[in-house]
Amino acid sequence: MPFLFFCVMLASSKIIGLREISMTAHLKKEHTLVIIKPDGVQRTLIGEIIGRYERTGLKLIALKMTIPTSDMARTHYMVGGEEWLENIGRKAAVAYEKKGKKSPFATFRENGVAILEANAKYLSSGPVVAMIWEGHQAVGIVRKLTGGTEPLSSDVGTIRGDLTVDSYQLADSDQRSIRNLIHASGTPEEAEKEIPIWFEEKELLKYRLIAEQILYDVNLDGILE
Ligand code: GDP
Ligand code: MG
Repeated sequence: MPFLFFCVMLASSKIIGLREISMTAHLKKEHTLVIIKPDGVQRTLIGEIIGRYERTGLKLIALKMTIPTSDMARTHYMVGGEEWLENIGRKAAVAYEKKGKKSPFATFRENGVAILEANAKYLSSGPVVAMIWEGHQAVGIVRKLTGGTEPLSSDVGTIRGDLTVDSYQLADSDQRSIRNLIHASGTPEEAEKEIPIWFEEKELLKYRLIAEQILYDVNLDGILE
């Protein structure tokens, strides 16, 4: 009887274990899109930038060098739709006000369209490197390493904070997009919309990285001889 009880307990713990595995699997497979923009390529920072993401333990599952058309760049920035245009225009208008200046645009949307066009010109000005990183909280980890949008105020230690010099002031007075080396998806939902613009499904490679065992295995079996 105790043996039967033991067998039942063992079986149920295995079932629970399996359920836990399947319940957490998606937490380890979040995707984010990263693009090294034309200034990153021209500054010969490809290796440095990839290295920073790589050493977190995230897994690179797709990579390509390409020259985007301006239409492709517009499609990429417009995944957020009209709401994105309005919000980015509002953000820029607030920044003008903070500096005691009046926005040269009649509406937030108009300001948004100007930023969209500047972004499309910038992103399609030369080769870029597009990649997909996979892993637990991939979006948040990549954003943390990438740093805030404006290099002048990005934190020290981040890619934008350490490796370039641009500011909204300079970008706005030269009527161009701020050059901040990288695009990184803002949310997992944004990533899922952006990825198909840059990659076909078959270009996302499914493979195991040995390091995943130490990052994610529950029991760390197999370390000791
Ligand atoms: P990100 O996610 O940190 O890249 O920033 P956003 O998604 O808000 O904006 C997309 C891109 O638009 C940024 O990387 C910048 O190149 C550009 N951008 C955003 N806000 C402004 C702005 O207020 N002024 C200018 N000139 N460019 C901006
Ligand atoms: Mg963004």
